[in-house]
Amino acid sequence: MKIAILSRDSTLYSSIRLVEAAQARGHEARVLDPTHCYMNITSRNPSIHYQGENLLGYDAVIPRIGASITFYGTAVLRQFEMMNIFALNNSAAISRSRDKLASSQLLARKGIDLPITAFAHNPDNIEDLIEEVGGAPLVIKLVEGSQGIGVVLAETHNAAHSVIQAFMGLNANIMVQEFIQEAAGSDIRCFVVGDKVVAAMKRQGREGEFRSNLHRGGTATQVRLSPQERATAVSAAKVMGLNVCGVDLLRSKRGPLVMEVNSSPGLEGIEKACDKDIAGLMIEYIEKNLNKQKGSG
Ligand code: ADP
Ligand code: GLU
Repeated sequence: MKIAILSRDSTLYSSIRLVEAAQARGHEARVLDPTHCYMNITSRNPSIHYQGENLLGYDAVIPRIGASITFYGTAVLRQFEMMNIFALNNSAAISRSRDKLASSQLLARKGIDLPITAFAHNPDNIEDLIEEVGGAPLVIKLVEGSQGIGVVLAETHNAAHSVIQAFMGLNANIMVQEFIQEAAGSDIRCFVVGDKVVAAMKRQGREGEFRSNLHRGGTATQVRLSPQERATAVSAAKVMGLNVCGVDLLRSKRGPLVMEVNSSPGLEGIEKACDKDIAGLMIEYIEKNLNKQKGSG
């Protein structure tokens, strides 16, 4: 097969590992920066150009589209899809996953358990909003935040009120969420490929930190999942329509709660924590499903 890896950076661990894994299985692989792709979208024969070259002969594309280039990146991916090139995750599913509000609404509607969560922009009754999610302690998040920045734990009612008021002043979209204290500064990253969790790690925040992000100094170790956790992660991936994703769970008293579904989960943390060839499993998934597609067509 000839595989395109859509990533802005060919020197990232994930890009390098995907190229290696494809080559190890006898395929050709190349990293293409989606922001450098250009295309005539009105042509009846859709094509994609890259540095003056007409991209031809690709069988599959692995999108590794960062949040900051979702709009253009998914447009490029859509062009690959129009050329009948198999996309490991499709553009519609990636766009959906990037909208935190839409994703939470969809997951909740499909019966996936989430922490009790409210959205707000300019709440005219902060007291009522706080009451709606069960009162302090509360976690308040900027919808546009990432890597744990813009995630605040408000331990008291007064703190919650002030933080919501402050975020309102920024004219931001916010999420107000029940605090899952028993998660004890950790979350579980489930790496899903197809209908299986192929690896899982527990990320633990450093001492005194409720956020487990590796970027915030957290550490990751392999973890065994309960059958319920596995089933939750697989269902969340399915609802989102993602073949490959990272499902982040909080372990709560009432069972696993889905915090987020990431459509471009990083490989470095999970491969190192679990000592597993996840990149190889992603390539294997393409091999199996490309054949299926060809076989049925
Ligand atoms: P980001 O998308 O910026 O990483 P998250 O929503 O994933 O933000 O929150 C960062 C971290 O904070 C999570 O990984 C988790 O450890 C912790 N956290 C987030 N929400 C809650 C919550 N409702 N209860 C307990 N811990 C939480
Ligand atoms: N972006 C990383 C990932 O998707 C998570 C990094 C973190 O937890 O800070 O695997």
